[in-house]
Amino acid sequence: LVRAHGVRKSYGSTEVLKGVDLTVDEGQVVCLLGPSGAGKSTFLRCVNHLETIDAGRIWVAGHPVGFVLKGGKLHELPEREVATQRRDIGMVFQRFNLFPHRTAMENVTEGPIQVLGRKPAEARREALELLTRVGLGDRGGAYPRELSGGQQQRVAIARALAMKPKVMLFDEPTSALDPELVGEVLDVMVALARDGMTMIVVTHEVGFAREVADHVAFMVDGAVVESGSAREVLDNPQHQRTRQFLAKVL
Ligand code: ATP
Ligand code: MG
Repeated sequence: LVRAHGVRKSYGSTEVLKGVDLTVDEGQVVCLLGPSGAGKSTFLRCVNHLETIDAGRIWVAGHPVGFVLKGGKLHELPEREVATQRRDIGMVFQRFNLFPHRTAMENVTEGPIQVLGRKPAEARREALELLTRVGLGDRGGAYPRELSGGQQQRVAIARALAMKPKVMLFDEPTSALDPELVGEVLDVMVALARDGMTMIVVTHEVGFAREVADHVAFMVDGAVVESGSAREVLDNPQHQRTRQFLAKVL
């Protein structure tokens, strides 16, 4: 469902991604691990076309990200159509970026109403289902400042799901949370994975990776240096950098 090959990205003269390859099949969960500065967030942003790549190609749900295939040739997509393409992709960031002046319910219904053209009543019904699914069925009327970090992050997940994405990208969704709130967010993600959602998860939560990842990729200095099953990568890392990293986070 997601295929990246040879993805390169530079900021000025600094090459941040040096040929990243990654494949995620439908229904798979891939966890992306690696030290700070490895390029994990940049890679997710490229998948979501928040960044333009310099070389290589990323395919999501059969479409080359940022391009359209016409007459056997790839043409760059106009920005408006990039937005359409992006609907297939849900993203949850480290910092819960909810609209602060809207309730949880309004945060979840905004996209479906404004972008998908849903009727408000229908959008609210679906949002209530999603909020219930993340354990917040009774908090729809709350504003983000009235919610804990873990609750806000669960609203952010519900909001992403409301757009019916084909794949969900998570960028360290629990690393800004107080330790006691991490579990409730991971539980929602585990349930989502069990329901068959295709997910790419940047995380340092090795326990989560062990429990749900079909695949773990370890990234250093802009490239995937090691990938395989959770067991292979986490329990028997081959690469020196992977070993060092795991020694620190475990
Ligand atoms: P972390 O674990 O700290 O989140 P990361 O693996 O997500 O790290 P990135 O945020 O992708 O790493 O950053 C990779 C490198 O790219 C870093 O050296 C960073 O300074 C650089 N970088 C990221 N975004 C930009 C930008 N917009 N302009 C210039 N350099 C950038
Ligand atoms: Mg990052």
